[in-house]
Amino acid sequence: MLVTPGTEAGASTYGGVRYLFCNEAFDADPERYRIAVDPVCGVEVVIGQEADRLTRDGRTYVFCRPACRGAFEAEPERYAAQGARSMPDA
Ligand SMILES: [Zn+2]
Repeated sequence: MLVTPGTEAGASTYGGVRYLFCNEAFDADPERYRIAVDPVCGVEVVIGQEADRLTRDGRTYVFCRPACRGAFEAEPERYAAQGARSMPDA
């Protein structure tokens, strides 16, 4: 869900990034929410440690290596659907 500043139930700063929440589950296990899935190869990537990333149609995708980004750019329609499991909305 979309949480806009001022409506959040809670907020935390972790790894230098400020997160807003509709609930307080984040504080219990912040590492869990830093994982995104590379839409090309399916590898879990720690957000902030990805080899590459790009934003397309308002979504941010992270990649484990530049070659995965290249594959995504070559066939974005094929991989974007899997990207639904990728990062939360940017
Ligand atoms: Zn990859």
